[in-house]
This record gives sequence, structure tokens and C-alpha cells, in this order.
Amino acid sequence: MSTQSPRRPLALAIHGGAGVIDTATLGDAAAQRIHADLDRALDAGHAVLASGGSALDAVEAAVCVLEDAPHFNAGHGAVFTADGRHELDASIMDGQHRRAGAVAGIAGVRNPVRLARRVLEDSPHVFLIGAGAEQFADLHPDIERVPNDWFSTEVRRLQLVEAQRQEQQAWEASQDLRGRYFGTVGAVALDSRGHLAAATSTGGMTNKRWGRVGDSPLIGAGTWADAHCAVSCTGWGEYYIRNVVAHDIAARVRYRGDRLRDAAEDVVLGEVPAHGGDGGVIALDRDGNVVLVLSTRGMYRGWIRPDGSRGTAIHRDD
Ligand code: ASP
Repeated sequence: MSTQSPRRPLALAIHGGAGVIDTATLGDAAAQRIHADLDRALDAGHAVLASGGSALDAVEAAVCVLEDAPHFNAGHGAVFTADGRHELDASIMDGQHRRAGAVAGIAGVRNPVRLARRVLEDSPHVFLIGAGAEQFADLHPDIERVPNDWFSTEVRRLQLVEAQRQEQQAWEASQDLRGRYFGTVGAVALDSRGHLAAATSTGGMTNKRWGRVGDSPLIGAGTWADAHCAVSCTGWGEYYIRNVVAHDIAARVRYRGDRLRDAAEDVVLGEVPAHGGDGGVIALDRDGNVVLVLSTRGMYRGWIRPDGSRGTAIHRDD
């Protein structure tokens, strides 16, 4: 008789950002490529989980695929800052031991989530920024370096031109940053040992300046994992920081015994919009319940449930 314990359920969810996703502007061909890239990210994460790998490795693998895909605002395809550059942020968290790594304002690392993982594994710190984070990257030959314009795409350049045109028209308009984001990527995973992990990576918001950093690299705001659940966020980062969204969802599950879906809906559809923000989250609990919640018109997303069923979606009602 086998002494092995029964295999636990595996689950994975990913996102490629929330926002106003207009079918007409997007077009069928682009939508198909986005579904295909979401599928590739699911495959990459699931391959790790299915071979007995850790949730931490799975979220890193899935996010790397999304960082390399040009449609998403992370890695190649990241949005432009006001001075026409790219400053990237990422974080990763291991729910079993509450270990975390994060980087912000980095300019020359192809896969920021890999650097965040190195911070988690190889440094005594959690969060490194800017030039210091790049120096830390120099110590790791496995971290691929690229010139800053490697992240540029024409679509993102046009978004910067449009954002700056609007800003010139009215300072008022520049205060409403709605729609200046979407495309941040993230993943949450549950592995065969029952451990959870989460990761998030972004270029931030179009036309950002003054070293602006959003929620994505902030542990507790944009990313969280503990023994009960894992959460990755996307949306208007200032509001996600002010509502400490990822941790608030986890705290409701842990301290109040809320179902994950109720906790995520209360925060994403209640707290954040009540304060003026919008966006979405993906979340997973230790039973493999997958939750994808958005207050925006769309969120690129994908999932694999413990029963093996899987899917990808773009619009809110998909
Ligand atoms: N939350 C990200 C930020 O504020 C943007 C996004 O999710 O698209 O930097």
C-alpha cells in the first residue's frame, strides 16, 4: 500500500491588468493574441505545479511569460513615464513562510519579477529601489539585463502622447488618472503541498513622474500571500495603497472567517470605489477556490481550477 499522502488540489489564476477594455479598439486579432498569451502563462505556471514544483516557482514562471508579452503593462510593453522612459515595479510573496521580495523604479532588467525573487532568496531585505536594485541585479548573472528602450512599444508611445495632450488641455483632466492604467500582470498559485504564493509586475501608470510608485511592488497593497490565501491586484494604485487591498482581503478571511469571494467583493466593489478608485484582483484560498473580481469594464485574466477546468477572459461579463 502506498504511504504517499493523497495529492492535494492545484490551482492557478493570472491577470494581465484591469481597465477600460473596448472591444472595438482592441480588435479580434489582438484579442486572440491576448487569449493565447494568457494561455501560455497558465501553461507555464501549471507545468511547475503539475511536476510538484512550488507555488512560488509557478507564479514567477507565469508572470515572466506575461512580462515578455507586449500587450501587457509589465516588462516588454510597459507604459512610458512622463520623460519617455520605463520604470518597472514588481513583487513576489511566499505564503508558507511569509517571505517576500520587491523592486521598484528599475530600468534595465528584462523580468522584474525574477529580480524580486532574488531579493526574496538572496538578500536580507524585502524591498530594493532604483539604482540600488540595479546594483543588486549586477550581482546575479542569471538576471538578464536589457537597454531601457527594449520595453518600448508603439501602442504605449501613443498612449503617452495622448495622456500628455489631455494634460495640456486641462490640468483638471490630468487629475483623473482613470484609464491611464491597465495591463499590469500578476499570478496566484496553490501547490501540491498546499502552499500559496502571489506575484505582481507593472510599468505603473502612463505619464508618471517624480519617481511615482504604485501598489504593485508594495507587499500588502498590491501583493499578499499567507497560509490562507494569495492575492494579486491591478488598478488605480494610489487607491489600492490607501486601502491596503491585498492584505485587507486576506485579513477578512483570516480574522473574520469570511469566504474569499465575499472578502474580495467587499474590498474591490465596495471599499475601493467608495474612495474613488477602481480595478480588480485575482485571489486563491488554500482549498483552491479561485476568485476574479473587477470593478472596471475589463480585466485580462485566466484560471485553472483544482478540477482541471480552465479559461481565459477579457471583458467583465465574459
Ligand atoms: N496598479 C498599477 C499601478 O498603479 C497599475 C495597474 O494595475 O495597471 O502602478
